[in-house]
Amino acid sequence: MLEKTLKSIEPFTSNVEKNSRFCIGCGEPATKLVKYSTEGAIIIEKYCEKCANAIEASSSLKDRS
Ligand SMILES: [Zn+2]
Repeated sequence: MLEKTLKSIEPFTSNVEKNSRFCIGCGEPATKLVKYSTEGAIIIEKYCEKCANAIEASSSLKDRS
């Protein structure tokens, strides 16, 4: 499994990604773009606010260990 590091969580700012605006975590309409950095690439995933918050929280915990 590829190591991903949370880079940022941003609200949607444009109508890009019109075709897939659903949270990949739960299927609700997505409102956040979650960016991860991996080796040599940025990965952008779409989540609703709730899932984005959960990701942010778990990522912070990982950073401390
Ligand atoms: Zn969700």
